[in-house]
Amino acid sequence: MSGTACHVCGAPAVEPLHQGGAHFRLVSSDVQPVEGSTEFGFCPACSTVQKAVTPAWRTMTERIYAGYDINHQGRGAEPMVFDTAKGSGPRSLILLQNVLDRIDLPASGRLLDIGCANGTLLRSFHGLRPAWRLSGSELSDTWHDAVMRLPGVERFYSGLDPDYAGPYDIIALSHVLEHITDPAAFLRRISEYLGEGGRVLLAVPDLEQNPMDLLIADHCTHFDSRSLASVVQRAGLVLELLSAALLPKELIAVLSRATEREPAAARRSNSPVDLVRRHFAQLGEVRDAARHATATGQTFGVMGSSIAACWLMLELEGRVRFFVDEDPNRVDHHLAGLPILAPLQVPSDAVVFIPMPAAVADRIVRRWKHLPIDFRFVKA
Ligand SMILES: [Zn+2]
Repeated sequence: MSGTACHVCGAPAVEPLHQGGAHFRLVSSDVQPVEGSTEFGFCPACSTVQKAVTPAWRTMTERIYAGYDINHQGRGAEPMVFDTAKGSGPRSLILLQNVLDRIDLPASGRLLDIGCANGTLLRSFHGLRPAWRLSGSELSDTWHDAVMRLPGVERFYSGLDPDYAGPYDIIALSHVLEHITDPAAFLRRISEYLGEGGRVLLAVPDLEQNPMDLLIADHCTHFDSRSLASVVQRAGLVLELLSAALLPKELIAVLSRATEREPAAARRSNSPVDLVRRHFAQLGEVRDAARHATATGQTFGVMGSSIAACWLMLELEGRVRFFVDEDPNRVDHHLAGLPILAPLQVPSDAVVFIPMPAAVADRIVRRWKHLPIDFRFVKA
């Protein structure tokens, strides 16, 4: 990242993090193949792993947002999460149930969801606090009608920096901050729309739990608990809650103004540089093992239809014939021009590579061991 200053704190000396071997292929956050590569770096001043925010990166992300199509593999249905402390269900509902267990929210109030997409979080929140008045905000007005039809919604905003009619008791930023090139300044600006005692509810991918986050082209900041805490402090806010255990692979935080609440105790995380080196090595191992598995010449498929599956398909350069997914919402749909099959639809004796941790892959193999599928994955 020679010549690129840290986009989080402005420090000039960002240390490059080398990928080793060929640059990894990239996937957009709405799971579509992306052309181009990126450089990674670590800023010792604010402890943040990041992509170099260059003119080329900005052009790449503008192209992604111009054709953004969230959850297209599930026809707009929200991803489900499984086996959390609150059980299984739509992601936003599990998130909100967990957070409402930990903070006191009155029966009525106003919530603004920035990056609301088709309104999944607004719908879940209305079910839990039906008297609250809700607003959603998005870059484009694609989802204006869908959001305005939801119960409890009073307003929809679109554009980069709308003039919100605050104050709000909660401003939700679910999977927004990792896209933003000035996260601390953005948080500071947004917090001006909070009323007295108001809070920001934040969800970002957790780099510690998820190597795949590095491969998402439009994520410029790869947060762990330490770098997230640093951004929050820089924005003049405090962490009332910070947890890596509420949702799989995510960091969930609740922020308040520094004068209003006591901060949660800080948690130390491992060295981000070592972490990213391990992630790169692990991704390289998956890529090598999958390339090796295609050498058998059997029909080849990849398990999943999200970031990991789309990424691996790109790395295998045309050798993948289909994806396989256990989620019925995704079956019979397409991803990057290839069909998404149910396990039962996989041609007999096909090789299906599972680009997931060994424990997850083991469970998948056990569920479908009665089928003539030749599953492959990287063993622990
Ligand atoms: Zn920095």
